[in-house]
Amino acid sequence: MVRLHNRTHTSHIGSEFSSLDIMVELYFDVMDITPQNFSSLDRDYFIISKGHAAPALYDVLFRRGFITKDAFESYGKEGSQLAEHPKREVFGVDTATGSLGHGLSIAAGMAYSLKYSNMKGKVYCLLSDGECQEGSTIEAANFAGRMKLDNLIAVIDNNRLQGYERTSNIQNIASVKNKFEASSWSVSEMNGHDFQDMRSKFLNTPFKTGEPSLLIANTLKGKGVLEMEDKLEWHYKSPSDVEVENFIKQLGGST
Ligand SMILES: [Mg+2]
Repeated sequence: MVRLHNRTHTSHIGSEFSSLDIMVELYFDVMDITPQNFSSLDRDYFIISKGHAAPALYDVLFRRGFITKDAFESYGKEGSQLAEHPKREVFGVDTATGSLGHGLSIAAGMAYSLKYSNMKGKVYCLLSDGECQEGSTIEAANFAGRMKLDNLIAVIDNNRLQGYERTSNIQNIASVKNKFEASSWSVSEMNGHDFQDMRSKFLNTPFKTGEPSLLIANTLKGKGVLEMEDKLEWHYKSPSDVEVENFIKQLGGST
């Protein structure tokens, strides 16, 4: 991702790094979703409501065998299906997202359909902390609670930063928690960079029969690169030619 964004300058790399571990845990350990069963309806579903972190999803889809290395590396090139925000033409992507505040509504609709078709699949929806300020997110939470969608698991990437601000300057995460609980969701927290913690929380869902589950994942924007961690500017910045080598080294990769 460091190299991709150095080439394309279409970065939301800070948000990709805060949410990458969550997607790795889901795709490699938790969800029943593979290249083999993706074309079937009888599986789990993943909606990346924070569509601006799509390159992190593409990386996971590549490493999980959904898309080829060539396809992954075509990101941002003319003619590539892999755009800055995801679309359904990419094998492994269930829905196009990027306009914030829509993903939980889509996920709730899918969970409703699965539940009342007596299908066992679960729907996982990754939200940003900032998009919980969107009224549509809270409307979807109301609907999911009212319909007792205990096959719906929402995860908030609580990296505490959004486009131009500290998220808490606009809405505190405690208020988000209260709104979901008031809509009959069970809520828990986890460390979004601790795979054991995430595993135990995900495997305990639904926390309560008849209630959708919300996991507030405490994360760090730009996780893994000292210069990026918890820095607002890395919501949009892309690594420069001089930064690439240093960043990749910090992430344990080879240049
Ligand atoms: Mg955020």
